[in-house]
Parts: sequence; structure tokens; C-alpha cells
Amino acid sequence: MKIRLDTVVKTFDTFRAVHGVSLEIESGELVALLGPSGSGKTTILRMVAGLEYADGGKIYFGDEDATDIPVRDRGVGFVFQHYALFPHMTVAENIAFGMKVSKVKRSKAEIAARVADLLRLVKLDGLGERFPGQISGGQRQRVALARALAVDPKVLLLDEPFGALDANVRRDLRRWLREIHEELAITTLFVTHDQEEALDLADRVVILKDGKIVQQGTPEEVCREPNSPFVMGFLGDTNRLPANVSGGRAVVGNAALPAPGVADGKAEIFVRPSDLDWTEHGDGVPAKILRVIDRPDGRRLLAATDQGETLELDVAPEIQAKAGDEGFVTVRRGRIFAAG
Ligand code: ATP
Repeated sequence: MKIRLDTVVKTFDTFRAVHGVSLEIESGELVALLGPSGSGKTTILRMVAGLEYADGGKIYFGDEDATDIPVRDRGVGFVFQHYALFPHMTVAENIAFGMKVSKVKRSKAEIAARVADLLRLVKLDGLGERFPGQISGGQRQRVALARALAVDPKVLLLDEPFGALDANVRRDLRRWLREIHEELAITTLFVTHDQEEALDLADRVVILKDGKIVQQGTPEEVCREPNSPFVMGFLGDTNRLPANVSGGRAVVGNAALPAPGVADGKAEIFVRPSDLDWTEHGDGVPAKILRVIDRPDGRRLLAATDQGETLELDVAPEIQAKAGDEGFVTVRRGRIFAAG
């Protein structure tokens, strides 16, 4: 089921939380709404669910105007970070709950068969008789997903479903969710403030700031071509280097980078730590190493430039460097934005 938001607005008292958001989610697509706290992600999701009414604009499910359809008639399944399971019901009873209260009448045998299928799908076979208090947090969120899927939703809405779990469990669960999505191909809207989660999981990422979409695209597009310093900084660690652009070249320290099409004058180059390197002799930005942090996949250097900026560089493990060393930071590539 395709979903379309057309200039959707939401105001709480006098505060406008969502400013005319237009967005299309293709049938079977998994779209992540990504943004910092307060950017309006949850409010958008709640409007798609029908838990919150849009006070401007329209929401379409397929060709149908769903703006005023009540939540129970929208055919949406949702999983929220704090959408707790019923603690006094077993896992199987939790999964069966929606089917029992649904308008679609199913026999006991049908429900039991469906619960067994769903337990297999979410890889929890054998745990149906446990209570939520007797399984792990990651397993509980898988039960919550099975419960949401039980009524065959046309749309799946997930709001930070793995937010409360530790990093390794989160990583496993998003791989698992991606596999389930590939199998079921349900149109899915996933809210997260975690850029790694969004990039790992989604077909398309929609980046929000202050209730507005600032960029959307495939993970590859937003990573390669962030359209603003905000998006670049939100997607990952970023260094800012002042530069002077002249004749299509940006001068940084005693080196220059190609800057085709950039107007002459002051600019800022935004560079990922992995696109900076360290050399003792050569062209670059003169700097002194403040600290070396060893990591499993390389070393991060913190280096102070003679302009007083601290840069973060991710370099190969074999690069010899220690605090106090003087040398040059070289820039492999960066994005140039006018100084603001
Ligand atoms: P988070 O990641 O922290 O959940 P978010 O991007 O999901 O943030 P929303 O929860 O959509 O953001 O909130 C957007 C803005 O609207 C926030 O400034 C929030 O304080 C405000 N807001 C949300 N719900 C209400 C409400 N019921 N009444 C008043 N203001 C609200």
C-alpha cells in the first residue's frame, strides 16, 4: 500500500511541530524518518497511524484519503519503544490478542496456527508459553512485531522499536527486521534518531529538522551528497576546515582541493575523519597531535591546527603517531559549503 503525505501540518497549542511535510512511501518500501530529538518524527508517524489528527494537509493510503479514518480502520500495525506487551498474558496470547479483538472473525484453530507461524517468523518457536517477564528485551520487541503483524497490516509503523536495547542486540535486530521486510514487503515507516540504524535498514532515508524535511534519498545518496552542513553533521562525525576559494580551487593550509562551481571567497570544507590523513612531510594543514585513540579498525588522531581547531582523523593502524608529533593533515575529499 502506497502512502502519501501532502503538506501535512501539526500544531500543538501555538507550537508548530510539523510544517507542511510532503512525502511518498512506495508500496513495499521501508523508509526511515531520521532526525534529532524534537524534529517531528513521532508526530508524523502518529498522524499516519491515526493516533494524532493532522490539522492541515492530507494523508493518502493508496488513492484513498485516509486523513480522517480512525486508527482501527486504517489497517496499520505499530511497534513503539514503550508499547509494552501485556505482562499477564503469555507470548502466544499477546500475539493472538489483535486477532481475537479484530472484526475479522477467526476460529481458535486458525488463531493457534497463525500464532505458530508468526513465532517461527520472528524466530521465537518454543517460547509461546513464556510470559514477557521471562524473555529478553530483544525477544520482547520481536514479540511486539509478531503481534503487529498478526492482523495482516497494510502498513507497518515502527517508532524507535529497538531504542531501549544495547548496541549488539540492536544490530542483530535490524538485520533480522530487514530480512523479514524482504520476505513480507509491507510498506514500512521507521522512526529513529540513530543514523547508523537508518542507513543500515532503510531503502530511503528522510531527514527532518524542526518539523521539515531537509533531505531525502537512498542511503547512498544522502551519504555521498549531503545537501547541507546539518545533514552532513547529523549523518556522522564531521570536521570543518576554513578555506579560501579562488578560480575553482579551495585552499586549505598550504594545499588546495578542486572546488568546481564554487563561488570565490570564504568557504568551509566539511570532511569525514576517514577522508583526512596524517603526514609528517608534505602539503596540508599544519597541526600537532593531541591524542591517539586506538580502535579495533584503526586509529583516531585528534590534532590541533595552528588556527586553533581540533580535527579528528581516522588513519590506518600502521600510521606511527603519538601525542606531541608535528606534521600535516591532508584532505582526501570533502564537501564545500559557503561559510555561514
Ligand atoms: P524524539 O526523538 O525526542 O521522540 P521526535 O522527532 O519524535 O523527537 P516529536 O515527538 O514528533 O519529535 O515532537 C516534535 C515537537 O512537538 C517537540 O518539540 C515536542 O515537544 C512537540 N510535541 C509533541 N507532542 C506534543 C504534545 N502532545 N503537546 C505539545 N507538544 C508536543
